[in-house]
Amino acid sequence: MNKTLIIGAGGVSKVVLYKCAMNIDIFGEITLASRTLSKCELIKNEVKEDIGVDINIAKIDADNVQELVKLIQEVKPNIVVNVALPYQDLTIMEACLQTKVHYLDTANYEHPNSAKFEYKEQWAFNDKFKNRGIFGLLGSGFDPGVTNIFCAYAQKHYFDEIHNIDIMDCNAGDHGYPFATNFNPEINLREVSANGRYWENGEWIETKPMEIKVIHDYPEIGKKDSYLLYHEELESLSKNIKGLKRIRFFMTFGQSYLTHMQCLENVGMLRIDEVDYNGAKVIPIKLLKELLPDPASLGPKTKGKTNIGCVIDGIKDGKKRKIYIYNICDHEETFKETRSQAVSYTTGVPAMIGAKLILEGKWGGKGVFNMEQLNPDNFMDELNKQGLPWKIIEMDV
Ligand code: NDP
Repeated sequence: MNKTLIIGAGGVSKVVLYKCAMNIDIFGEITLASRTLSKCELIKNEVKEDIGVDINIAKIDADNVQELVKLIQEVKPNIVVNVALPYQDLTIMEACLQTKVHYLDTANYEHPNSAKFEYKEQWAFNDKFKNRGIFGLLGSGFDPGVTNIFCAYAQKHYFDEIHNIDIMDCNAGDHGYPFATNFNPEINLREVSANGRYWENGEWIETKPMEIKVIHDYPEIGKKDSYLLYHEELESLSKNIKGLKRIRFFMTFGQSYLTHMQCLENVGMLRIDEVDYNGAKVIPIKLLKELLPDPASLGPKTKGKTNIGCVIDGIKDGKKRKIYIYNICDHEETFKETRSQAVSYTTGVPAMIGAKLILEGKWGGKGVFNMEQLNPDNFMDELNKQGLPWKIIEMDV
């Protein structure tokens, strides 16, 4: 029987646990470990009540490699699924290396002291993973994750050469709060308040935050203001997609979100450095995270849909072609199934699918891989079966 270790007990983790429990024949004995044991207990109880599956729980500080190694040696998992924060990627990868266990995550490593993310440190594990004969899967969420798979699927079945990719991410959900983020507030605000960046003709072009806006028509949602951001899948896709000339990433934001963010930034609440307050050291963005609603608590309140997909053009059989591959996910439906809103759901389901394909032996290899380097067909089939069906439409060139 397989054994699965899942690290982190936040919004995304809950969906991963529900979905692994629904596929218990593959995941076998599941252990959930995180910093706050009471959060593991809550998920354990909900999974037992709703799915009828028992899981083990444990307390772990995932910043500590020795603690991780000890836990992995006790649990003896076939795979470690990292759904803690991007800060823990390197320590968990190191522990997997030492214990020779496969690794999966949903977000690129970020250094706590600089709001910047790149694959350099994680790709540096490639040779070490190869030598130990283990498999590391990076970014198995929705974006990165499913968006990479959409591109790989388009490359395999729809194009001889891809020229342009626009990844379009719309969350049209309404949670009723004046301001809240749909995943970890600290990670989310660091991402959207940073400079934008896109890749064109072999070069990175930097923009000011929210400098480039397009109005995009999202199927089943309608037209929305969408802003160019830098997003981590651009780094790997710009290397791995044949013939690519340009790749960009856009995300929708409502005016209220942007006004709040601007105001918080102006008053210094997005700062990531330490501030002295009455002798105590405070990091403003961490304090803000404590004040904002926990994304895991937004589930019962959120209504509306997400639509995330890729608009891709290029050449097929000597002719120009343009397609749009997307998934639509309904916040209320995902809450009924997993007591979670759609942003956690669209991340947690692909994390489970990546782990399932590894445990089934359908995906594997030695080294560290981004999603688009693997066969997209299995993953696309699983998306349809596990709650994230997709559509492809042909567009006018
Ligand atoms: P949450 O903040 O809700 O959950 C993070 C969890 O990790 C918490 O339970 C937290 O513990 C735990 N954790 C943090 N630090 C440690 C540590 N040192 N040791 C052990 N556990 C720790 O975040 P989300 O669930 O919203 O996001 C999870 C991951 O998913 C993030 O990496 C995020 O960037 C990624 N993500 C990826 C997306 C994609 O499409 N690819 C989209 C959305 C998110 P505690 O409970 O004590 O705070």
